[in-house]
Amino acid sequence: MFEDLQPAPADKILALIGLYRADPRTNKVDLGVGVYKDRDGKTPVMRAVREAEKRLLNSQDTKTYLGLAGDAGFNAVMAKLAFGPGADMTRIRAAQAPGGSGALRLVAELLKRTRADATVWLSDPTWPNHMPVMRAAGLQIREYPYFDAASGFVRFDDMLAALLTAERGDVVLLHGCCHNPTGANLDAAQWQAVTDLVVERGLLPFVDIAYQGFGDGLEADALGLRLLAAKVPEMVVASSCSKNFAVYRDRVGAAMVLARDSAQADVAMSQMLSAARAMYSMPPDHGAAAVRIVLEDASLRADWEAELEEMRLRMLRLRVQFAEALRRQSNSDRFDFVASHRGMFSRLGLTEGQVERLRAEHGVYMVGDSRINVAGLPEDGMDDLAKAIVSVLD
Ligand code: PMP
Repeated sequence: MFEDLQPAPADKILALIGLYRADPRTNKVDLGVGVYKDRDGKTPVMRAVREAEKRLLNSQDTKTYLGLAGDAGFNAVMAKLAFGPGADMTRIRAAQAPGGSGALRLVAELLKRTRADATVWLSDPTWPNHMPVMRAAGLQIREYPYFDAASGFVRFDDMLAALLTAERGDVVLLHGCCHNPTGANLDAAQWQAVTDLVVERGLLPFVDIAYQGFGDGLEADALGLRLLAAKVPEMVVASSCSKNFAVYRDRVGAAMVLARDSAQADVAMSQMLSAARAMYSMPPDHGAAAVRIVLEDASLRADWEAELEEMRLRMLRLRVQFAEALRRQSNSDRFDFVASHRGMFSRLGLTEGQVERLRAEHGVYMVGDSRINVAGLPEDGMDDLAKAIVSVLD
């Protein structure tokens, strides 16, 4: 049966983790895998989530099935978290999904059922899983230019020009905040321009929001999504709790639809649930139940927001310190963009060869496209790191 099968290519980031673990150097630096880390390199369970889990353990007296949409309370609070308190909830439906990845796939399945020949426009570059997930659902892919490696900023004019060539009914996948892998994001005026364009051209926005609260704050990070929601007749959203609730392995996310009216929202939801049925039936409960408890309880929610804010501010501080160290060591402003980027990642604009030299000669690990995880930056070793980076530049 399997004799003609070729091995699937190894995941580059997972391979990097293996190399890092095997490296005996004590001053090695891990800027690779995309999980938040504290000063000690740990990814702790958040305080409010731990408390919610305790309550869940004490109060849960059955584990019988919940249904295809998972936890209804979770879906309601997740829709509010993304769309905001002022959103027209009669037009919005949310289905709990296994992580942001599961939500992306569920939305992709809905799009395929709606329009079999749908084309999804992805930013170039984008999170490497976007393409396989969209392809697996049978969707066509196009790309729009997004990142200018030389300046570290968004190629906004080129992005708009490409999207102007999209056909009515095409889908535009946008990172809600904290673009992965580049860290370069749209500002409010640019979100407005994208909103105008998608309305004018009849495109369907698809917002992937996997880092809400990691950029400019919980509300500010949803600004683009909410600008769109206020103007477009229809949109789709995939959100993830992996990062902002630190429940990575519990697989918590939500697939959401904003439809023209309540009746169409119901139909779209029923199709999403039928797609879920065919893929995994029901999402895992535990993590989503804990998130629901946190978001529904005023004091747990306040504590979660405070801890999330500490994480966000730590990453911002590290960005500034790193940019300053790079400025000192390189005697140039080449890397200043790191301080104005937001979220967990920045792409430094190094070649694969330079990234490889950093690993081999200095024990500095980053993804081959020179994406760094800002949360992994060493608070006490910024200048050494900056020196190593400058030493591999031509
Ligand atoms: N979208 C983007 C852009 C991401 O970076 C991630 C996480 N790396 C996800 C979605 C989904 O993550 P998960 O499936 O772990 O929730």
